[in-house]
Amino acid sequence: MLPTLRKGAADAANLGFVHEVALSMQLAKVVTRAAEGRTVRCVHLRIGALRQVVPETLSYAWNFVSRDASLGEAKLDIDWVPAVIECPLGHRSEVGPLDGLVCPECSQPGHVISGEEFTIVDIDVDINA
Ligand SMILES: [Zn+2]
Repeated sequence: MLPTLRKGAADAANLGFVHEVALSMQLAKVVTRAAEGRTVRCVHLRIGALRQVVPETLSYAWNFVSRDASLGEAKLDIDWVPAVIECPLGHRSEVGPLDGLVCPECSQPGHVISGEEFTIVDIDVDINA
């Protein structure tokens, strides 16, 4: 179980926002280095459900973080990966980020198959910039 995730809604929103800002800043740093001065048009990402990233919050955070980092042209294109766990009996189930990592069929703790991704898949840049 993930008891720290069961907070009040206001708390969660607040924490969530800080989380997305931190992720955006980390992302901006990596993208800036990879772009080597070229104009970045789009950043393709894979983000797992267990990362607790709220799409609207991330795009809001990215909006001002990217501008601060001179990446104002860069859009985010996100492939959302569902959280999938497998229990000792071999049941594979998709779980919600707040469900805990427990098999919905037999209630045994499962291990994560997918859902923890935060990966930059590709970065589109202007060739001539
Ligand atoms: Zn099971």
